[in-house]
Amino acid sequence: MYSGSLFNYLRSMGVQLSEYSEDAVPDALTIVVSAHENSFLPSAGEYILYYETEKIIAALKTVMENCRSEQGVFLVSGSSKELAENLKQRFRPEDKLKIMVVNDLYAAAGFNNGREKYLPQIPGCYGKDAAQGPCMVYSPREMFRIYEAVTEKKPVTDVFVYCTGEVNRPSVVNVPVGISCRDVIGACGGPLTEDYVITGKPSFNIVEKDTEAPVGKDTDTIVVLGSENPFVNKLEIPFPTELKRIKSTCSHCRFCTDMCPVYLEGRNLFPHLIVQALADGNAAESPWITGAELCTECGICTAVCPSGLSPVKINVFIKEIIKGAGNRGLKTGTHGKDSGRFRLSGYRRMPAARFAEKCGLSRYTIKNIHGEALRIHDIERVELLLYQEGIKLYPVVVQGVKVSRGTVIARGSNDSVSALHASISGRVTLVNEERIVIAA
Ligand code: SF4
Ligand code: SF4
Repeated sequence: MYSGSLFNYLRSMGVQLSEYSEDAVPDALTIVVSAHENSFLPSAGEYILYYETEKIIAALKTVMENCRSEQGVFLVSGSSKELAENLKQRFRPEDKLKIMVVNDLYAAAGFNNGREKYLPQIPGCYGKDAAQGPCMVYSPREMFRIYEAVTEKKPVTDVFVYCTGEVNRPSVVNVPVGISCRDVIGACGGPLTEDYVITGKPSFNIVEKDTEAPVGKDTDTIVVLGSENPFVNKLEIPFPTELKRIKSTCSHCRFCTDMCPVYLEGRNLFPHLIVQALADGNAAESPWITGAELCTECGICTAVCPSGLSPVKINVFIKEIIKGAGNRGLKTGTHGKDSGRFRLSGYRRMPAARFAEKCGLSRYTIKNIHGEALRIHDIERVELLLYQEGIKLYPVVVQGVKVSRGTVIARGSNDSVSALHASISGRVTLVNEERIVIAA
């Protein structure tokens, strides 16, 4: 077992925690395990919840006990009734656990959909605002990692990834962090087309052409797409062309804003107003333009735009200018302050299946969580990025040293950042600002 703070221990073991994870919390906190991750595409989380149910329940109870929580809730997507049934069968009468089956409506990325729409329906659980009743939300993946860290003293070295799209056998694969996407695709029988690119969760804004790109701790889904797929084409339009297109094509429908998770969190990012300002040629005067800095580049706005535009591309461009110019020439308007509140109503939702259709990804939505996760043996090399789950890490090993699987190789700037561990045993062959490479 661990001593001291559970959450500090978990971070030292590489577990990425819910942003509100604190040991000292008020009573009556609700701990939520959400397998409803805007599941228009299959997710490794559902697999973990189905096959590692006992471990997830044990981890949930550990966190509940640590936080003196009175309530544990599983948020499960309506299209995964099997998952709910399976969970129910494992609950004991004394467990203070509930299941909430939610509609398959897509509203935004991350947990915001669940936070806004469903958590307020649970007594004592209102999402982010601690004054209204605090909750902590975890993915099944992090709960599984919590179980391994607490019960087996195992640091995070592996990741479950759902690999789907244009592959021979869409499957869940359990691999060491840092293995290449090409190896994962190979384990799934290889690609169905030679000319392919990769996208997936956590970000659909990135089309990765380098099939050697490494899998990160937060990689959940790899979607292999033919390079001619319309979704890919949309993301690949060069910026100057995109600028011309928004001038002639944007219908100001504001669909991009209504589906933007940052906007839905109550923050002042309005992609349709940014697009409009650029289309009108008055970006420098627009009070909305600096909102682009809040953009997480998740790509949802691009996926939903009915005119086939890419607001995220505009935001990335603006972010670069702001960064490079130290904000010179771009005014921060009075609208630049965040409201700090969730927008609890008035946002658009659509059936997840329709969302997938809009993105041109509906062929890949068939969930196949049955069958054991595939594994890859004799891995010769891993490349661990020093930017895991959105946070910068600093190496604590140097080139040439030998490491064992589970050795700490990088840490964050403080204790609130999860450590990074060697995912295979071997020798460190490269350390630079971006990555650590280990060869077996
Ligand atoms: S969704 Fe597309 S067409 Fe609609 S406002 Fe946004 S950029 Fe313009
Ligand atoms: S890419 Fe940026 S603007 Fe677009 S939906 Fe995501 S956060 Fe919002």
